[in-house]
Amino acid sequence: MSQNVYQFIDVQRVDPRKKPISTRKQQFVEIYEPFSQNQVDSQADRCLDCGNPYCEWQCPVHNYIPQWLKLIRTGRILEAAELSHRTNSLPEVCGRVCPQDRLCEGACTLNEEFGAVTIGNIEKYITDTAFAMGWKPDMKHVVWSDKKVAIIGAGPAGLGCADVLVRNGVKPVVFDRHPEIGGLLTFGIPSFKLEKEVMQRRREIFTEMGVEFRLNTEVGKDIELQQIIDQYDAVFLGVGTYQSMSANLENEDAEGVHDALPFLIGNTNRVMGYDEGDAPYLDMQGKRVVVLGGGDTAMDCVRTSVRQQAQQVICAYRRDEENMPGSKREVKNAKEEGVEFMFNVQPKGIVVDEQGRVSGVRMAQTQLGEPDENGRRRAEEVPDSEHIVAADAVLMAFGFKPHKMQWLEPFGVEINHWGGINAPEQGAFTHQTTNPKIFAGGDVVRGSDLVVTAIFEGRNAAEGIMDYLEV
Ligand code: FAD
Ligand code: SF4
Repeated sequence: MSQNVYQFIDVQRVDPRKKPISTRKQQFVEIYEPFSQNQVDSQADRCLDCGNPYCEWQCPVHNYIPQWLKLIRTGRILEAAELSHRTNSLPEVCGRVCPQDRLCEGACTLNEEFGAVTIGNIEKYITDTAFAMGWKPDMKHVVWSDKKVAIIGAGPAGLGCADVLVRNGVKPVVFDRHPEIGGLLTFGIPSFKLEKEVMQRRREIFTEMGVEFRLNTEVGKDIELQQIIDQYDAVFLGVGTYQSMSANLENEDAEGVHDALPFLIGNTNRVMGYDEGDAPYLDMQGKRVVVLGGGDTAMDCVRTSVRQQAQQVICAYRRDEENMPGSKREVKNAKEEGVEFMFNVQPKGIVVDEQGRVSGVRMAQTQLGEPDENGRRRAEEVPDSEHIVAADAVLMAFGFKPHKMQWLEPFGVEINHWGGINAPEQGAFTHQTTNPKIFAGGDVVRGSDLVVTAIFEGRNAAEGIMDYLEV
């Protein structure tokens, strides 16, 4: 089939249809309908096949985007799936949750004037369709070595590492304290962005490929790191960052104030029927909910509260909409679902009633001042602008930093000034820590970031491990 080089003019960018708002406000199901084969063909055909594909460079795993778009528009789905897995361990996940407007699609040559190619949704379509057709990663040429590597953490970093190792004949054994793989993909990101069956299917695929999972197993509690070091040739740490950042607000321990992650995990536990022991369900039904923060976690909290039938949901953020750190797509989705946004407001304290329960948030108005050390304009408080926003529940979504890992302390792994693990990409072996047998990647090394960057670091670390093991 020859390509119509003017397709990008004749055919506009189309996003997949969304489920009706009434469904979206009640159900924990993905909001986007899948693309049809026809939509994929015509959207993929819009790709200009640029000589210098900026999309590929801006994609953190450097996916071969123009090449798989070409394969898909000539109907070669299984080849597209093979190619897509050469650079990405979880393409169907990235297609769903990457902030494409900041990454591949933001860099698409067509973006400004004609609308970017819908790369993310086609990436998701390729893998979903290939799996539905019975495709599985081809492992027949793998020659097994006698090496085995322990991976601590079944999040995207750990899974990226396991994928590359197993495809190269090194046995990965993945330990995770949760009952399912995925890390924040399962116990963080809600199912209206990523349905949980996606990770269950991946567990089955990885298991068939030869990855072994030891779930419900917390290192430092159920098994000591020393035992693991003694039994394995190398160790990869992909343990994420789990300490919530605090704004040190007055009364932030009041009844009705919650950190974002326990709220989201409690909700997932209820939706999935998991044990709620560690993270009980926090019910927002009928409540006025104020979410503090403006990133992806905040968007997940507001949209979860909507689905729990909160009476009112407000997202309060200290800068303007333009400067919000989260995906613009998710902000738009939240607005469609009825979330109210208050921009340029800084929380000053939690207001409590006589029983000590939250009754509001004391806010000050802000305006944008000079840029900070990261180049983002500072939010400066406007004098005499304090006011109270009524609330029955407050969810704090200020981000995460690395949690303390006492179990790691005896092993000589250097921790940096912000609590992350030092495991540089450019070391003697990529992502090796100061203990030669231990490697690390993902959020615990780079700070809370993205699924796709965690996958990239896990995959890179696997290369470093194989060099170290000389396989
Ligand atoms: P994690 O995903 O955190 O996985 C770490 C795993 O290690 C966990 O399963 C944990 O149980 C396990 N673990 C930790 N300690 C131990 C131990 N001692 N023993 C056994 N297991 C252990 N990114 C996007 O790209 N798009 C989004 O839309 C998006 N939304 C997000 C929404 C929320 C609410 C949050 C919190 C984050 C979001 N992110 C998003 C960020 C993304 O999820 C993370 O950057 C990514 O998951 C990091 O991967 P990781 O493998 O480093 O860590
Ligand atoms: Fe775009 Fe993310 Fe896919 Fe890369 S992995 S092509 S950035 S959606």
